[in-house]
Amino acid sequence: MKSPVTRTLEALYRRYASLKDGQVADYIPELAKADPDLFGICIATRDGQLYEVGDTRRKFTIQSISKAFSYGLALEDRGEEHMLAKIGVEPSGDAFNAISLRPDTGVPFNPMINAGAIATCAQIVERDGMDRIARITEYLSRCAGQRLTVDADVYRSESSTGHRNRAIGWMLRNFDIIEEDPREIVEAYFQQCSLLVTCADLAVMGATLANQGINPLTGERAVAHEYVDNVLGVMASCGMYDWSGEWIYRVGLPAKSGVGGGILAVLPGQLGIGVFSPPLDSQGNSVRGIRVCMDLARELALHLFNPSAVPPPALRRSYNASQVNSRRRLPQAALRTLRRFGERIRVHELQGPLLFSTLEPVIRVLVKQAPYCQHLILNLSHVPAIDDVSARMLAEFAATIGDSDSRLHLCHVGRFHRSLLDAGFSADSIFPSEDAALEHCENLLLGDLLEGPIEAPSVSLNSCGLFHGRSEAELERLDAGLETMTFAAGQTIIHSGDSADAMFVILSGHAEVLLRLEGDRRQRLDVFSPGMSFGEMAFLDSSPRSADVIALTDVECRVLTRKFFDELGRDHPALQAALLHRIALQLSERLRHANIEIGALRS
Ligand code: GLN
Repeated sequence: MKSPVTRTLEALYRRYASLKDGQVADYIPELAKADPDLFGICIATRDGQLYEVGDTRRKFTIQSISKAFSYGLALEDRGEEHMLAKIGVEPSGDAFNAISLRPDTGVPFNPMINAGAIATCAQIVERDGMDRIARITEYLSRCAGQRLTVDADVYRSESSTGHRNRAIGWMLRNFDIIEEDPREIVEAYFQQCSLLVTCADLAVMGATLANQGINPLTGERAVAHEYVDNVLGVMASCGMYDWSGEWIYRVGLPAKSGVGGGILAVLPGQLGIGVFSPPLDSQGNSVRGIRVCMDLARELALHLFNPSAVPPPALRRSYNASQVNSRRRLPQAALRTLRRFGERIRVHELQGPLLFSTLEPVIRVLVKQAPYCQHLILNLSHVPAIDDVSARMLAEFAATIGDSDSRLHLCHVGRFHRSLLDAGFSADSIFPSEDAALEHCENLLLGDLLEGPIEAPSVSLNSCGLFHGRSEAELERLDAGLETMTFAAGQTIIHSGDSADAMFVILSGHAEVLLRLEGDRRQRLDVFSPGMSFGEMAFLDSSPRSADVIALTDVECRVLTRKFFDELGRDHPALQAALLHRIALQLSERLRHANIEIGALRS
């Protein structure tokens, strides 16, 4: 099935295939042979999806588009300050082949016009037995994801006619911008311009810049991360020669064009665009290429300064521990305390990439809450990216509120674990799951607020919720009729699917309820501690067990069998009714809390 993206490109192709304006470049004789009807459009996404229409696999020479990449390589070799001293980054307002040097210093205006590109070429270091053109070829090949080669005919043709570029080389030599024989540098520059690419290669090279310098097809780093913004910056201000101002105004994408008919444009963080059509306008930009990019930017809302591209709010939803608790079931006293004071533990689920602009509103909320919340938990399970700035801001905020009584905890940090630690986030504040983080914070809060321990290590019958309020005589009757069962840690107490003829009361130890999910996955629903009962649902309605219950520690239980329960109905109907009443109360308490929890999680 055809994607609507392909249809968009096809519509553009049809719209402009009949546009015959412009002239194929002929000042390099070999370029004059180009077929003016060739026309290709390609988009490459940051994750390597290609959409292509027309002549996207026809080779042509890259020409000036190479300048953006050789500038990246020179930056890697020499660093930003050195390069700025040698070559400016100001739009010249002149044609690409102008002898555009600052009159006093001879510094070329920018690296996107010939003078700046020739000076850039001179800055590339010969290294590892590779001369300049070998290094340039390798660098551009890594950006394209395949080995590029020089078109020998175009190279020879430009070399035999490129006297103007030689003159620029000598001017640069005169001002000591180039310190060696400029003839060799200019030859390397001619070869760089004669590298063969396709329209699809251009889109991939653009996507490499969009993807912070990593080629999305090969996964290989091609452009050093720290210079991607410099390269894109100079493309944005100077990439389209003396039409750069109107280009960024109308299209709004960093771009570079070449007299071979190619245009490469980049939407940082998202995609690369390649267009190929040889006829050029008077500035040397592809006529169809410009029209296609203008329409594409408008139709797909790609303009860099278009605010429709803002990421979603990072705060997905928030709740506190009076609404949502860890999965273990707490004793009544602890639960009541959490209902009352649970506001002191806040959970925020975040979503989308964390960068300064998305994290800042979250930090704003945290700063407000920190004075009255002891524990702030951020759940990052829906966060696909955390940049260095956000990792550092989170670590700094955690350290700052650590000076007061509050703590910041993270959970579900996944693959960001390392970078958060590197940014200075403390390992003990990072939890594998929200449940673990909540349990930790609940324990601390309850430890502060409750007199005794959160739960007793073991209980007798009269302190079990189910038997609450029973008389001595009744307790004796129960003690005589309830069975006793013990389970070793790890043993299964209840199998899901089994038929049920009993319910359980824990006297000591802990047991967890696990729900079987698809495959082998199981999710913890609950943890029971001494005094609590479980298994009452299937016991009441005679349906099969709905989940597994496993002993977490050694567990001692009392078991209320249906047989004994029926006996009570005959001999002690008031006692049976009292037990049913307690079961009903416990279930309604659970349902009430489930409603609060669902309310909080739905908001
Ligand atoms: N090799 C060409 C030249 O120096 C490149 C110019 C261009 O693509 N604008 O003239």
